[in-house]
Amino acid sequence: MTKRVYTFGNKKAEGNGKMKELLGGKGANLAEMNLIGVPVPPGFTITTDVCTEYYTHGRDKVVEMIRPEVEKAIAEIEAHTGNKFNDNKNPLLVSVRSGARASMPGMMDTILNLGLNDEAVEAIAKKSGNERFAWDSYRRFVQMYGDVVLGMKPESKEDEDPFEEIIDHLKAEKKVQNDTDLTTDDLKEMVKRFKAAVKKQTGNDFPADAWEQLWGAVMSVFQSWMNDRAILYRKLNNIPAEWGTAVNVQAMVFGNMGDNSATGVCFSRDAATGENLFNGEYLVNAQGEDVVAGIRTPQQITAEGSRRWAQSQGVSEEDRASKFPSLEEVMPEAYKELDAIQRNLEKYFTDMQDMEFTIQDGKLWMLQTRSGKRTGAAMVKIAMDMLDEKLIDEKTAILRCEAAKLDELLHPVFDKDAMKSAQVMTKGLPASPGAATGPIVFFAEDAEVWKDTKREEAILVRIETSPEDLKGMNVAAGILTARGGMTSHAAVVARGMGKCCVSGAGDAKIDYKARTLEINGTKLKEGDWISLNGSTGEVYLGKVATQEAELSGDFAKLMDLTSKYTRMKVRTNADTPNDAAVAIKFGAQGIGLCRTEHMFFEGDRILAVREMILADDEDGRRKALAKLLPIQRGDFEGIFEAMNGLPVTVRLLDPPLHEFVPHTEKDQKDLAKHLGIGFETVREKVESLHEVNPMLGHRGCRLGNTYPEITEMQARALIEAALNTRKKGTQVNLEIMVPLIGNVNELKYQKTIIDNTARQIFTERGEEIAYMVGTMIEVPRAALTADEVAEVAEFFSFGTNDLTQMTLGFSRDDIGKFLPIYLEKGILEQDPFQVLDRVGVGSLVREGVNKGRSTRAGLKCGICGEHGGEPSSVEFCHTAGLDYVSCSPFRVPIARLSAAQAAIKEGK
Ligand code: ADP
Ligand code: MG
Ligand code: MG
Repeated sequence: MTKRVYTFGNKKAEGNGKMKELLGGKGANLAEMNLIGVPVPPGFTITTDVCTEYYTHGRDKVVEMIRPEVEKAIAEIEAHTGNKFNDNKNPLLVSVRSGARASMPGMMDTILNLGLNDEAVEAIAKKSGNERFAWDSYRRFVQMYGDVVLGMKPESKEDEDPFEEIIDHLKAEKKVQNDTDLTTDDLKEMVKRFKAAVKKQTGNDFPADAWEQLWGAVMSVFQSWMNDRAILYRKLNNIPAEWGTAVNVQAMVFGNMGDNSATGVCFSRDAATGENLFNGEYLVNAQGEDVVAGIRTPQQITAEGSRRWAQSQGVSEEDRASKFPSLEEVMPEAYKELDAIQRNLEKYFTDMQDMEFTIQDGKLWMLQTRSGKRTGAAMVKIAMDMLDEKLIDEKTAILRCEAAKLDELLHPVFDKDAMKSAQVMTKGLPASPGAATGPIVFFAEDAEVWKDTKREEAILVRIETSPEDLKGMNVAAGILTARGGMTSHAAVVARGMGKCCVSGAGDAKIDYKARTLEINGTKLKEGDWISLNGSTGEVYLGKVATQEAELSGDFAKLMDLTSKYTRMKVRTNADTPNDAAVAIKFGAQGIGLCRTEHMFFEGDRILAVREMILADDEDGRRKALAKLLPIQRGDFEGIFEAMNGLPVTVRLLDPPLHEFVPHTEKDQKDLAKHLGIGFETVREKVESLHEVNPMLGHRGCRLGNTYPEITEMQARALIEAALNTRKKGTQVNLEIMVPLIGNVNELKYQKTIIDNTARQIFTERGEEIAYMVGTMIEVPRAALTADEVAEVAEFFSFGTNDLTQMTLGFSRDDIGKFLPIYLEKGILEQDPFQVLDRVGVGSLVREGVNKGRSTRAGLKCGICGEHGGEPSSVEFCHTAGLDYVSCSPFRVPIARLSAAQAAIKEGK
């Protein structure tokens, strides 16, 4: 019989920490915490497989399947706690919690205090001697259950939540500000009104039977796997829908039982900076999500953290100690135990832990632990620190770092000079580091609108964020919230995204209706600019200039480490000495693609290029090319100089000629004047260059094979530049690359021109220099006949942009009309221009490599498409046996890390 329910409690568990696929991350770690002796309220986990069964067989069938196991597991909790489920004298209350394989914070639903009804609440009141606590728990339960299970949600974005509306009315009637100011009788009244609202909206009474409540809650958690925000989160994080969520049912412990109770969230290291400092937030007399919801200002866990917080917020030590003391000061015993547990958990799981805990009447209970989400900077620092501490080894440290997240470290920071004159409007909490500047918007949808229609990354300004805002947060430059601490939704999500965030800026008065933000007397409206410093919490008026990030310390250490394990080299795509220099700083080991046409656009050169294109005959073309020769030679000398002996692959002219000629009448007239010919002549010539399908047109080696003088000029510029550079004392390692061949004869023809030109120069100058001639493999036929091609080519570089276009038959310029729909419908899983299509394009690459090396042993093979900087594609390149990948300068670190990871994974 398939086991569908796994129990845990009192230091025993049927599951363990390795069973994340089956039990979800939360369930697996709850089991593991029991096994290592951490105090955890008893409970059980219903497996992720049951979630899949729920979606295939439906609710009733699933309840039938799991009922016996669940009943047995509930009996075990009863035995541990001495309470009884569905009993109104000594009721057992439980939480019903979602928990997928990968953590999806706040995306799915959780229900607390399940098991309460009008009678049970009285029993809890009597037993605890705390009537207020009992009713506070009850009203929370009715609200949560109503929301999640009974669908009591606001009808539209403008509508208020029906329960919040009742609370607001009640507070107004009683003339109080805070929930905590409501009396027990007020809470009783609240429950009554909640239940009446349920009856009115759903037509049914609120269920009093605990079993009915439990099945409703369990099925809702399964259902929440498919809610919009969970679906979106999975999409953003590449989590497959098949995984499903587990459900954890667990005895309640109460942080809202009075002033000797508390609840909180903590991290074993700083998730923003990576500093090895235990930190977190808590609230006295509170339950569950009060801390992250941002309704009350949470306090710091450690005394050190509390002092730092007070300093950054301008709170005096006196105020801090009296109004916002740390847990360390308020409950020293529980704190000591928590500190010991967090050390233990980090050591045990050998990673930074993000933990939830509750203190019930002085007794500490752990409710969750998981590897904490962190910024890119924290990711690198924690990995390097843990390596130093010998908690993990080098390979693990490399694998721990997510390549794509390195991107964050390369982002700009505020310019130091601009900072001096920046006008500080207010200061919030430094929730997620970085520098952001942009126009403000107040709704997540508007952030999307600004991005899509105005091409502007906005700053999303909210009182607090919720999981519904995910999409807008993702496209925003930064996030500012008025409420919420370092563990608020906004803060946690922003850190996960590596997005700059300032949270809890209490001075910010936000009016959603008027769409205004007022800070200390300055009123801003939608579209006005502000800047955020996510590392200090400062908010500035207007734009503040940014500058490039500095890369040293732990980042450099990680990069050095990658060199030790990588097999593939990483080169860069660079067209200028400046790009080349940046890439070298990032550790590039050569240029894999230097596009010569970019050199043609600058300044006066374009005139000579146009003259060449519009010339009537070879003589005319040669005249214009003679003007370009010294310019190109100079460019190449600059690049060779910068690369200082590292290999440089230069691609001969590639794009169709019409890209270089003017298309407006005015520009054509100017050109006619410059060339001293008639406007009509120019217009006709430009028209004659028009192609129906330029991607498949007169471009690549087809240019050099129809106009050999172009190749001749480029070969001359290259060889002469190489000789000149060497004369000045810098070594040159030149690789000349012929683009877009599909037939070996195309390459042969080009190679003959290059070799003849070189020989001529060698005779002229009485000196020689070595160079290679290779080709791009980007036409499928070239890959299929790579054995023939390699008889001529001395190296291959896979141009996976064109190879993808031609293999899939997609034009990159026209995919906008169908690719988004294909992705949405799942016809394609990923954009093949971002992530290399391993099955299709990938097999051409493998075939190309293998056939090429069959005729030329050890043939050097690389890739120079955009894919060269994308982690999964880099991994593929490693497995396909390529010698190097080449990518844009800012992606070099990402490619280096990915290449090292691929090598390590292969060895495992
Ligand atoms: P999420 O995955 O969104 O964090 P959780 O299932 O962890 O949701 O629960 C939400 C909140 O409720 C957390 O603060 C958690 O600590 C608290 N909670 C969950 N179960 C219990 C319980 N049995 N007793 C007390 N608090 C609980
Ligand atoms: Mg949680
Ligand atoms: Mg190409």
